[in-house]
Formats: sequence, structure tokens, C-alpha cells
Amino acid sequence: MARILDGNKVVIFTGAGISAESGIQTFRDSGGLWNEYSIEDVATLAAWKKDPALVLNFYNERKMNICIAEPNSAHMAIAALEKKYNVVVITQNIDDLHERAGSSNVIHLHGEIMKARSTYDETLIHDIGNKPLYIGSKCQLRSQLRPHVVWFGELIMNDEISKKHISNAARILVVGTSLSVYPAANLLKKASHHAEKIIISLDIAKKPYGYQFICAKASKMVPNIIDKWLYGKFLG
Ligand code: NAD
Repeated sequence: MARILDGNKVVIFTGAGISAESGIQTFRDSGGLWNEYSIEDVATLAAWKKDPALVLNFYNERKMNICIAEPNSAHMAIAALEKKYNVVVITQNIDDLHERAGSSNVIHLHGEIMKARSTYDETLIHDIGNKPLYIGSKCQLRSQLRPHVVWFGELIMNDEISKKHISNAARILVVGTSLSVYPAANLLKKASHHAEKIIISLDIAKKPYGYQFICAKASKMVPNIIDKWLYGKFLG
């Protein structure tokens, strides 16, 4: 059955690169986080079981860094796109820079660092804002709280709703991701052949079929593309 595209819908799919110019480190670039830490020590369930204090300390540091960062021109341009389009932001980021820039529909695939959840009942999720988590930070059931983030080996969040949005969007703009983290990167394959599909990044592992790759900094190129969509002629 032919798929019906929503001509007014834009999906923005982002990764750590969009927040790099706000001062939040990416994982894989040189100088990125994995040069300082090993994944196994801080971002897996095994790490949490072995040394939860080290894991909490790692995420407390990430949160401190995120709290002092400000959205950059790429985040702001994406929020401005809502003036004309139905915009869905799907992000691999755990930061809240899209929300702070003013985007009203943000889906997090890998969780949110401003939230914590119970280790006894994962449906108990608390908005803790900029507060750090420590051993002894408890939920209402008196169980330890953990960061509400997806660790390597855990299931991503919101993948079904993300697939739906990607599959009927008329435009898809991918920003600042290496597309090397699965299954998040696979979601982009759900896009229609007829959708306009652009990737802006400094580097990608593998270009998905049908996407145009623009090697550029997010802060420069994202506002350019968005200006064209907002004020140029309708391309859909
Ligand atoms: P990644 O580190 O694998 O890739 C980052 C990509 O961004 C690279 O391809 C790089 O070339 C590009 N990039 C760097 N600076 C850029 C710029 N100024 N403009 C445009 N592109 C730029 O990150 P990923 O693909 O998001 O996947 C890794 C995981 O990292 C995700 O699961 C995410 O949860 C996590 N992460 C999130 C944050 C955050 O919340 N800000 C920070 C670090 C890592």
C-alpha cells in the first residue's frame, strides 16, 4: 500500500554533534568522552552492578556540564521551524538543549539526564532537574535511583513512535550523529523514498540510502537549511 506523507511534517534526528558547539563532549570524536572513560566501566548494567558510585559520578559530571551549556544556533533554528511546520525532534542525546531552545515535541531515544528512575520499578521516573544522584538517593519505594538513560546493551526508548514519525515525514534532517549506534541509526531506514532527506555532520560511519550528506558544522548549516524551508519556496 502506498504510504501517505504528511507534507507539513519535518523530523529532525539529532546526535551528540549538535551539542558539541554548546560545549558538551561527543563520544567518538578525538577528545570525545570515550578517550577518557571506557564504556564498560561507566555505561553498562554490569558497570552499575560492579561500581554504582563510579557510574553515578560519571553521569553527575555529564549533568554539570550540560547544566552550564546553552543551546546553540542549530537548536534555536530547529525550534523556530515550528512557526511553519509540524516538527518532531528525535534525539539520541540525553541533554535538554532542544527543550531549552523551545522545541515542543522532543522524543528521547536514549533517555534524559535530568530524570532518574527507580531500580525496583522502572516505571517510576522522577524529574530531578539539575540535582546529582548519589548512593542513597532513593525512590518512594526506598530503592536506589539510577540515571534515566539507556546503557549499552539496554533497549532504546520510544522506537515504535519514532518509526511512525520517520515513515510519514516529508522532510528529514539528521544532525551531528556518527550513525554508528544501533538500533537508533536503523530508524532512518524507515523514511519514504519520496521524503527530502539530509544529513549534516562532520563524519558518518555509513550513509543510509537516499540521504544527502553535507559535511559541515551544525551551527552554520542547520540555520541555512531551515531558513530555506521557512522562507524559500516549498520543496515538497
Ligand atoms: P557520536 O559521538 O557517535 O557522533 C557525533 C557525531 O557528530 C560525529 O559524527 C561528528 O562528526 C559529529 N559532529 C561533531 N561536532 C559536530 C558539529 N559541530 N556539527 C556537526 N556534526 C558534528 O554521537 P551519536 O551519533 O549521537 O551517538 C553516540 C551516543 O552518544 C548517543 O547514544 C548519545 O546518547 C550519546 N551522547 C549524548 C550526548 C549529549 O546528550 N549531548 C553527548 C555525548 C554522547
